[in-house]
Amino acid sequence: MAAIKLNNIIKNFDKTEVVKGIDLDIKDGEFVVLVGPSGCGKSTILRMIAGLEQATAGEIVIGERVVNDIEPQNRNIAMVFQNYALYPHKSVKENIVFALRRLKVDQDEIERRLKEISEMLQLDALLDRKPADLSGGQRQRVAMGRAIIREADVFLFDEPLSNLDSKLRSHMRTEIGKIHNKFGRTSVYVTHDQVEAMTLADKVVVLHGGHIAQVGTPMEIYLNPVNIFVAQFIGSPS
Ligand code: ADP
Ligand code: MG
Repeated sequence: MAAIKLNNIIKNFDKTEVVKGIDLDIKDGEFVVLVGPSGCGKSTILRMIAGLEQATAGEIVIGERVVNDIEPQNRNIAMVFQNYALYPHKSVKENIVFALRRLKVDQDEIERRLKEISEMLQLDALLDRKPADLSGGQRQRVAMGRAIIREADVFLFDEPLSNLDSKLRSHMRTEIGKIHNKFGRTSVYVTHDQVEAMTLADKVVVLHGGHIAQVGTPMEIYLNPVNIFVAQFIGSPS
Protein backbone atom coordinates (compact mmCIF):
# COMPACT_ATOMS: atom_id res chain seq x y z
CA MET A 1 0.00 0.00 0.00
CA ALA A 2 1.36 3.40 -0.90
CA ALA A 3 -1.15 6.10 -0.31
CA ILE A 4 0.46 9.53 -0.03
CA LYS A 5 -0.57 12.28 2.36
CA LEU A 6 0.67 15.84 2.40
CA ASN A 7 -0.22 17.59 5.65
CA ASN A 8 0.09 21.39 5.54
CA ILE A 9 3.27 21.37 3.47
CA ILE A 10 5.16 24.63 3.26
CA LYS A 11 8.34 25.34 1.33
CA ASN A 12 10.44 28.48 1.55
CA PHE A 13 13.42 29.28 -0.61
CA ASP A 14 15.31 31.85 1.46
CA LYS A 15 12.52 34.11 2.67
CA THR A 16 10.13 33.45 -0.19
CA GLU A 17 7.28 31.04 0.48
CA VAL A 18 6.67 29.13 -2.77
CA VAL A 19 4.46 26.31 -1.42
CA LYS A 20 1.94 27.79 0.95
CA GLY A 21 0.31 25.06 3.01
CA ILE A 22 -0.74 22.13 0.81
CA ASP A 23 -3.05 19.37 2.11
CA LEU A 24 -3.51 16.44 -0.22
CA ASP A 25 -4.70 12.84 0.04
CA ILE A 26 -3.61 10.47 -2.72
CA LYS A 27 -5.07 6.98 -2.62
CA ASP A 28 -3.14 3.79 -3.23
CA GLY A 29 -3.05 3.20 -6.99
CA GLU A 30 -4.46 6.59 -7.89
CA PHE A 31 -3.10 8.65 -10.81
CA VAL A 32 -2.99 12.25 -9.61
CA VAL A 33 -1.97 15.12 -11.87
CA LEU A 34 -0.67 18.40 -10.44
CA VAL A 35 -1.37 21.05 -13.05
CA GLY A 36 -0.82 24.78 -13.11
CA PRO A 37 1.15 27.54 -14.80
CA SER A 38 4.93 27.76 -14.72
CA GLY A 39 6.30 28.77 -11.30
CA CYS A 40 3.24 27.72 -9.25
CA GLY A 41 5.23 25.15 -7.25
CA LYS A 42 4.51 21.85 -9.04
CA SER A 43 8.09 20.61 -9.28
CA THR A 44 8.87 21.73 -5.75
CA ILE A 45 5.97 19.65 -4.40
CA LEU A 46 7.04 16.62 -6.43
CA ARG A 47 10.66 17.01 -5.32
CA MET A 48 9.55 17.11 -1.69
CA ILE A 49 7.63 13.85 -2.17
CA ALA A 50 10.77 12.39 -3.76
CA GLY A 51 12.99 13.70 -0.98
CA LEU A 52 15.05 15.89 -3.32
CA GLU A 53 13.88 18.98 -1.38
CA GLN A 54 13.15 19.20 2.34
CA ALA A 55 9.77 20.62 3.35
CA THR A 56 10.13 23.75 5.48
CA ALA A 57 7.09 22.66 7.50
CA GLY A 58 4.44 19.98 7.38
CA GLU A 59 4.40 16.22 7.08
CA ILE A 60 4.76 13.89 4.10
CA VAL A 61 3.45 10.35 4.54
CA ILE A 62 4.06 7.55 2.01
CA GLY A 63 2.37 4.27 2.87
CA GLU A 64 2.67 3.87 6.61
CA ARG A 65 5.73 6.07 7.07
CA VAL A 66 6.35 9.74 7.69
CA VAL A 67 9.18 10.22 5.18
CA ASN A 68 10.39 13.76 5.91
CA ASP A 69 13.65 12.43 7.33
CA ILE A 70 14.01 9.43 5.00
CA GLU A 71 16.58 9.62 2.20
CA PRO A 72 15.26 9.63 -1.41
CA GLN A 73 16.75 6.21 -2.18
CA ASN A 74 14.87 4.70 0.77
CA ARG A 75 11.42 6.07 -0.11
CA ASN A 76 10.60 3.32 -2.64
CA ILE A 77 9.73 5.79 -5.39
CA ALA A 78 10.78 6.06 -9.04
CA MET A 79 10.94 9.42 -10.78
CA VAL A 80 10.93 10.42 -14.45
CA PHE A 81 12.47 13.84 -15.07
CA GLN A 82 11.75 16.37 -17.80
CA ASN A 83 15.30 16.20 -19.17
CA TYR A 84 15.44 12.35 -18.78
CA ALA A 85 18.79 12.49 -16.91
CA LEU A 86 20.19 9.39 -18.67
CA TYR A 87 23.80 8.31 -18.13
CA PRO A 88 25.49 9.37 -21.40
CA HIS A 89 28.26 6.75 -21.32
CA LYS A 90 26.03 3.79 -20.53
CA SER A 91 24.03 1.80 -23.07
CA VAL A 92 20.24 1.84 -23.08
CA LYS A 93 20.26 -1.54 -21.34
CA GLU A 94 22.66 -0.36 -18.63
CA ASN A 95 20.67 2.81 -18.13
CA ILE A 96 17.53 0.77 -17.56
CA VAL A 97 18.95 -1.88 -15.25
CA PHE A 98 21.52 0.20 -13.36
CA ALA A 99 19.37 0.83 -10.30
CA LEU A 100 18.41 -2.85 -10.08
CA ARG A 101 22.03 -3.86 -9.71
CA ARG A 102 22.36 -1.49 -6.78
CA LEU A 103 19.15 -2.91 -5.30
CA LYS A 104 20.73 -6.38 -5.56
CA VAL A 105 17.97 -7.86 -7.73
CA ASP A 106 19.27 -11.19 -9.09
CA GLN A 107 20.37 -11.53 -12.71
CA ASP A 108 17.50 -13.78 -13.92
CA GLU A 109 14.95 -11.40 -12.50
CA ILE A 110 16.75 -8.41 -14.09
CA GLU A 111 16.64 -10.15 -17.49
CA ARG A 112 12.96 -11.02 -17.07
CA ARG A 113 11.95 -7.47 -16.22
CA LEU A 114 14.19 -6.00 -18.94
CA LYS A 115 12.56 -8.20 -21.58
CA GLU A 116 9.03 -7.32 -20.46
CA ILE A 117 9.71 -3.60 -20.31
CA SER A 118 11.75 -3.29 -23.47
CA GLU A 119 8.96 -5.06 -25.38
CA MET A 120 6.31 -2.87 -23.85
CA LEU A 121 8.20 0.34 -24.65
CA GLN A 122 9.56 -0.88 -27.99
CA LEU A 123 13.16 -0.61 -26.90
CA ASP A 124 14.24 -4.17 -27.86
CA ALA A 125 16.23 -3.07 -30.88
CA LEU A 126 17.90 -0.17 -29.08
CA LEU A 127 19.38 -1.84 -26.01
CA ASP A 128 23.01 -1.54 -27.09
CA ARG A 129 22.83 2.08 -28.20
CA LYS A 130 24.06 5.10 -26.25
CA PRO A 131 21.63 7.91 -25.38
CA ALA A 132 23.34 10.25 -27.88
CA ASP A 133 22.28 7.90 -30.70
CA LEU A 134 18.57 8.04 -29.81
CA SER A 135 15.77 10.39 -30.80
CA GLY A 136 14.03 12.47 -28.14
CA GLY A 137 11.09 10.10 -28.06
CA GLN A 138 13.37 7.09 -27.67
CA ARG A 139 15.25 8.73 -24.80
CA GLN A 140 11.96 9.47 -23.16
CA ARG A 141 11.02 5.78 -23.37
CA VAL A 142 14.37 4.77 -21.85
CA ALA A 143 13.75 7.15 -18.94
CA MET A 144 10.31 5.64 -18.52
CA GLY A 145 11.70 2.08 -18.64
CA ARG A 146 14.33 2.90 -16.08
CA ALA A 147 11.66 4.15 -13.70
CA ILE A 148 9.18 1.31 -14.24
CA ILE A 149 11.69 -1.52 -13.94
CA ARG A 150 12.29 -0.80 -10.27
CA GLU A 151 8.70 -1.77 -9.47
CA ALA A 152 8.63 0.99 -6.88
CA ASP A 153 5.47 1.69 -4.89
CA VAL A 154 5.18 5.23 -6.26
CA PHE A 155 5.90 6.76 -9.68
CA LEU A 156 6.64 10.48 -9.90
CA PHE A 157 6.68 12.26 -13.26
CA ASP A 158 7.88 15.84 -13.79
CA GLU A 159 6.68 17.08 -17.20
CA PRO A 160 8.03 13.93 -18.89
CA LEU A 161 6.56 14.78 -22.29
CA SER A 162 7.29 18.48 -22.54
CA ASN A 163 10.34 18.02 -24.79
CA LEU A 164 8.47 15.95 -27.37
CA ASP A 165 6.66 17.17 -30.45
CA SER A 166 2.88 17.11 -30.25
CA LYS A 167 2.38 13.86 -32.15
CA LEU A 168 4.81 11.93 -29.98
CA ARG A 169 3.35 13.60 -26.93
CA SER A 170 -0.08 12.27 -27.64
CA HIS A 171 1.33 8.81 -28.40
CA MET A 172 3.27 8.74 -25.12
CA ARG A 173 0.23 9.98 -23.23
CA THR A 174 -1.57 6.86 -24.36
CA GLU A 175 1.45 4.72 -23.43
CA ILE A 176 1.62 6.19 -19.94
CA GLY A 177 -2.07 5.47 -19.48
CA LYS A 178 -1.47 1.84 -20.52
CA ILE A 179 1.49 1.51 -18.17
CA HIS A 180 -0.61 2.79 -15.33
CA ASN A 181 -3.39 0.34 -16.13
CA LYS A 182 -0.90 -2.50 -16.21
CA PHE A 183 1.10 -1.72 -13.07
CA GLY A 184 -1.46 0.30 -11.11
CA ARG A 185 1.12 2.14 -9.01
CA THR A 186 0.31 5.32 -7.15
CA SER A 187 1.41 8.05 -9.55
CA VAL A 188 1.92 11.79 -9.18
CA TYR A 189 2.31 13.51 -12.51
CA VAL A 190 3.26 17.17 -12.93
CA THR A 191 2.41 19.12 -16.06
CA HIS A 192 1.46 22.59 -17.24
CA ASP A 193 -0.53 20.96 -20.07
CA GLN A 194 -4.28 20.86 -19.43
CA VAL A 195 -4.89 18.16 -22.03
CA GLU A 196 -2.39 15.86 -20.37
CA ALA A 197 -4.01 16.50 -17.01
CA MET A 198 -7.54 15.90 -18.23
CA THR A 199 -6.75 12.72 -20.16
CA LEU A 200 -4.42 10.99 -17.68
CA ALA A 201 -5.77 11.86 -14.25
CA ASP A 202 -8.07 10.03 -11.88
CA LYS A 203 -7.79 13.21 -9.85
CA VAL A 204 -6.61 16.65 -10.94
CA VAL A 205 -5.03 19.13 -8.52
CA VAL A 206 -5.01 22.65 -9.94
CA LEU A 207 -2.27 24.79 -8.38
CA HIS A 208 -2.06 28.55 -8.38
CA GLY A 209 0.76 30.49 -6.74
CA GLY A 210 1.69 27.81 -4.20
CA HIS A 211 -1.92 27.08 -3.20
CA ILE A 212 -4.36 24.40 -4.30
CA ALA A 213 -7.08 26.13 -6.32
CA GLN A 214 -9.20 23.00 -6.83
CA VAL A 215 -9.11 19.21 -6.52
CA GLY A 216 -11.49 16.97 -8.42
CA THR A 217 -11.98 14.48 -11.20
CA PRO A 218 -11.31 15.89 -14.68
CA MET A 219 -15.07 16.07 -15.25
CA GLU A 220 -15.79 17.88 -11.97
CA ILE A 221 -13.14 20.47 -12.71
CA TYR A 222 -14.20 20.89 -16.31
CA LEU A 223 -17.88 21.25 -15.49
CA ASN A 224 -17.63 23.14 -12.18
CA PRO A 225 -14.47 25.24 -11.96
CA VAL A 226 -14.46 26.95 -8.55
CA ASN A 227 -13.17 30.29 -9.78
CA ILE A 228 -12.15 32.33 -12.80
CA PHE A 229 -8.53 31.21 -12.56
CA VAL A 230 -9.44 27.51 -12.84
CA ALA A 231 -12.01 28.17 -15.56
CA GLN A 232 -9.55 30.13 -17.67
CA PHE A 233 -6.62 27.82 -17.06
CA ILE A 234 -8.47 24.59 -17.82
CA GLY A 235 -10.41 26.14 -20.67
CA SER A 236 -7.46 27.66 -22.51
CA PRO A 237 -5.66 25.77 -25.25
CA SER A 238 -2.20 24.53 -24.19
P1 ADP B 1 6.75 24.83 -11.42
O1 ADP B 1 7.33 23.47 -11.43
O2 ADP B 1 5.29 24.86 -11.13
O3 ADP B 1 7.07 25.60 -12.68
P2 ADP B 1 8.67 25.29 -9.29
O4 ADP B 1 8.23 24.37 -8.23
O5 ADP B 1 9.83 24.86 -10.12
O6 ADP B 1 7.43 25.66 -10.22
O7 ADP B 1 9.03 26.70 -8.67
C1 ADP B 1 8.16 27.42 -7.81
C2 ADP B 1 8.84 28.70 -7.39
O8 ADP B 1 9.96 28.41 -6.58
C3 ADP B 1 9.36 29.52 -8.56
O9 ADP B 1 9.18 30.88 -8.27
C4 ADP B 1 10.83 29.18 -8.60
O10 ADP B 1 11.57 30.24 -9.13
C5 ADP B 1 11.15 28.94 -7.13
N1 ADP B 1 12.23 27.97 -6.95
C6 ADP B 1 12.20 26.68 -7.34
N2 ADP B 1 13.35 26.06 -6.99
C7 ADP B 1 14.11 26.98 -6.35
C8 ADP B 1 15.40 26.96 -5.73
N3 ADP B 1 16.14 25.84 -5.70
N4 ADP B 1 15.87 28.11 -5.18
C9 ADP B 1 15.12 29.24 -5.18
N5 ADP B 1 13.88 29.33 -5.75
C10 ADP B 1 13.38 28.22 -6.32
MG1 MG C 1 8.43 22.46 -12.91
